[in-house]
Amino acid sequence: MPYKLPELQYPYDALEPYIDTRTMEIHHQKHHGTYVDTVNKALENLSNLSNLPIEELLKRINEVPEDKRQVVINHGGGHANHSLFWQIMGPNGGGAPRDDLLKAIEKEFGSYQSFKEVFENTAKNRFGSGWAWLVVDQERRLRVYSTANQDSPILQGHIPIFGIDVWEHAYYLKYQNRRAEYITAFWNVVRWDKVHHFWKEAIK
Ligand code: MN
Repeated sequence: MPYKLPELQYPYDALEPYIDTRTMEIHHQKHHGTYVDTVNKALENLSNLSNLPIEELLKRINEVPEDKRQVVINHGGGHANHSLFWQIMGPNGGGAPRDDLLKAIEKEFGSYQSFKEVFENTAKNRFGSGWAWLVVDQERRLRVYSTANQDSPILQGHIPIFGIDVWEHAYYLKYQNRRAEYITAFWNVVRWDKVHHFWKEAIK
């Protein structure tokens, strides 16, 4: 099996009270678990592709046979998206970006506050299921946008360094229909040191 469900680097209850234990458990084991199982199944008998890291597979999506392509976009995308998501959250999160990442955000969005507003609005306004992202584009500039379903920014040649899952499965047990409350709470669990690390890697 090419892909494995990555272990969380913190316990399921570590993001309380912002993200509840039961949501984390179901989200990680069942939702992410299913993305991993399903993309693995799609790659059976495609040995040339099944050795690739998931990000590389998504970059080379056109090499995936047409009858498997959408499954890989959905479930391979789901695997990549969630693998990043677990890492940019953690206990003792919150605060703000620092140093050169803060400067890059200020340069692109005016201030950290206006970046937050743009990002929150992007997440709130995603109709139906999807993600809001902070990505590095081909010119190594920061951009915020949202994607539907599990579409990864990698599919358009961008490197996601930060994002929020706004599928209902990410917040429904605690927040029900109140997506905006979940988005506001999310800032308290963000690990900006991790985002900083992913940004550095992306602009190399
Ligand atoms: Mn999810």
